[in-house]
Amino acid sequence: MTVSAPPYELVIGIETHVELNTESKMFCGCRARWFGAPPNTLVCPVCLGLPGALPVPNRRAIELAITAGLALHCQTPDHTKFDRKNYMYPDLPKGYQISQYDLPLTVNGWLKLEGGKRVGIRRAHLEEDTGTLKHGEGAGQRYTLVDFNRSGVPLLEIVSDPDMSSAGEAERYVRTLRDILVYSGVSEMRLEQGAGRFDVNVSIRFEEGGKTIWPPQSEIKNLNSYEALRGAVAYESDRLWREWQSGGEIRTRTGKVTVGWSPERGRTYMQRSKEEVEDYRYFPEPDLVALRPKATRVAELRAALPEMPTERRARFVEKLGLSEKDARNLVADRQLADYFEAAVGVEPTSAKAVANWVIGELTAALKRDGGDAKGARVAPEQLGVLVRLIAAGRVSPTAAKQVFGEMWKRGGDPEAIVNTLGLAQTSDEDAIAAAVDEVLKANPSALADYRKGKERALDGLIGPVMSRMKGRADGAVIRRIILERVG
Ligand SMILES: [Zn+2]
Repeated sequence: MTVSAPPYELVIGIETHVELNTESKMFCGCRARWFGAPPNTLVCPVCLGLPGALPVPNRRAIELAITAGLALHCQTPDHTKFDRKNYMYPDLPKGYQISQYDLPLTVNGWLKLEGGKRVGIRRAHLEEDTGTLKHGEGAGQRYTLVDFNRSGVPLLEIVSDPDMSSAGEAERYVRTLRDILVYSGVSEMRLEQGAGRFDVNVSIRFEEGGKTIWPPQSEIKNLNSYEALRGAVAYESDRLWREWQSGGEIRTRTGKVTVGWSPERGRTYMQRSKEEVEDYRYFPEPDLVALRPKATRVAELRAALPEMPTERRARFVEKLGLSEKDARNLVADRQLADYFEAAVGVEPTSAKAVANWVIGELTAALKRDGGDAKGARVAPEQLGVLVRLIAAGRVSPTAAKQVFGEMWKRGGDPEAIVNTLGLAQTSDEDAIAAAVDEVLKANPSALADYRKGKERALDGLIGPVMSRMKGRADGAVIRRIILERVG
């Protein structure tokens, strides 16, 4: 079966909501890390919207929003303000959300997808999150509980241009965006905790009767995983096409519709026809003064930006000689990449070997015992020294694993451990030759195979010799002596 391309072009734009990495909420001192807290314990008159309560903006949230903009090559206007977006919903106690309407904090940027395509970033504005609703059923009645812990948590809404043309590209965009925001410390963006959510605008475009047709779009609300994003975009674009083909009301409708996504049923469902933007009755927030980010502070934030993941990957490949795969593995976790660089600082000529150790032994140990690369029990400098000892022939790679295990368990200097445990690589060729003789004697068939012309028959003997030498021999020397013996 061949899968033919869909008979239409896809046009996709994405609004991403991310919770900012702050200790306190956007306009009050309540704790912002709400996930998992008992309901309605992180609240005060401000985030409950009680009469007379006054908002005080969170400086760090504003700076993180500017940082996000800078990381996305945006401009920071020197005059911005907050506005009220008025609507009524049970999770919004004030009856309005403080947001930014016509003068957002950051505008006109872009990010680059792998492969080089640029996606435009139209704007990113600050706002406050709403509470959360929990629907249930008991004693024959349906009920809804409301939890205001999330109410007032700082939120950045990042609006892309409609530059994506497939579900795969949409996914690459949100993954790239997430990498950038996590790297620059703006947000942890834990999708599984609702700290990153996507509203996806999907439309289709095609030729019909010599004309280009571009029916009204659908906005898919509140997607919170890559899987949901892929599934919803594929389903909704196909649904728009089928609705057009069957002569549905999409042919006469003028505005877009809003739909939700049901992962259980694998389909979207209608929510509402979009209110016109005027319906929100935006007006300037009277309790807050206009925001004028200082150019000097913006310059400081720009100077503090780290190298971004795409550039860092490229540098690891081009300057340090790593494979694409290793570079990707390391850069996916900023702490791991930082660890790697610190270790390479000690042993600059063995970057590939260091990468193998970080991706192999270190990652396995972290996975087994928990913890992050930052503050790992073996410091990057120690690993650098260990790799240097291997490169200098002081310790074999096999014995080095023992040294690493010892450092991980009890700490200590790699050189001292090599000495204490007697792991220094031996140059005693008589001892190696004796071990080779024993192993050859125990494996007559390997020898016979080799003499029949199977060149690789002897490879399997190196391991047993090494273990007789307790990992202290040089593999190349073992190989040479084996060949001398059988030659
Ligand atoms: Zn509060």
